[in-house]
Amino acid sequence: MRFGSFTFQPQKPKGFDFHVLRLKPETGIRLTPVADMYSNIAVFADNVAVRNHPDWISQSPLGPAKMGNNNYNIYWDVVCATQPEHREEELRYIAEVDGHSSGICLNNQYFADHGHCICPRCNALWKKSGLGWLEWRRKEVTNYIGQIREVVKKELILSVQPDPVTSYERYGVDFDDLAKYADAFNVVMFSKNYATPWYWETLTRNFKKLLKKPFYISLYVFGPGDNPKDVPTVPELLTVTVRCARAGADGFLYLTDGESQMLDFQKAAVENIEVRERLKTYGGTPVKEVLDYFESWSKIN
Ligand SMILES: [Zn+2]
Repeated sequence: MRFGSFTFQPQKPKGFDFHVLRLKPETGIRLTPVADMYSNIAVFADNVAVRNHPDWISQSPLGPAKMGNNNYNIYWDVVCATQPEHREEELRYIAEVDGHSSGICLNNQYFADHGHCICPRCNALWKKSGLGWLEWRRKEVTNYIGQIREVVKKELILSVQPDPVTSYERYGVDFDDLAKYADAFNVVMFSKNYATPWYWETLTRNFKKLLKKPFYISLYVFGPGDNPKDVPTVPELLTVTVRCARAGADGFLYLTDGESQMLDFQKAAVENIEVRERLKTYGGTPVKEVLDYFESWSKIN
């Protein structure tokens, strides 16, 4: 089992096996890659690209993939997944970043959501393909991932939404297709609380059955500008980690703004002896591995 930090700041909190930097998040802002960190890049979700090219936005019968379109759970603007100039630019960017990072971790490398995209170019490409609408979308996504794989020489982690059943219909994502190119998956399970770990554990079991490559689970600890009252509690985070580990997760990524919020979490995890004692009864080897890892954070200062 591997544990990673997932941060907005180019910082490497102690006590982790690897570090993932949110190099180009969905806001479209780009940081400088760090040689011994993985670079996380949001591919089609890109506020800057849409601001510069409003006509690139992904379209659907329920409106565009624009922040504020409440028909979708979209918190940023998403470029149409067949936009050729954006595809080419992202491909070049990913290749360049790969040379200056430990590896690449992608987000949003697929269509915005169900019903996307019906822009004139997508309609023309679909009709020309002779395929059904959903199969055409799958082919577009898979072929582009294939191109990305050719330029990524290091490890390639592909993020997927926490939807094991309808990712094909919503995003054009076929897990078996992606498994051919990915070294690992990252199942994003961000939430402002993990009060009912049962759901996350069930999702983990679903993904364990479906994914043909190892997978990490991303958990939300403390985002930029968060109020401490609005983030998951430490007992919730410890419990959800253990329960997802026993259901088959191969590793975890913990999201914080930077190093100091991670250190607060790690210290609180160590101090929470009562919860860690209780969790010892939750299962076998994977649970012990997680609890030993939390214990190892006692050496951090
Ligand atoms: Zn389109």
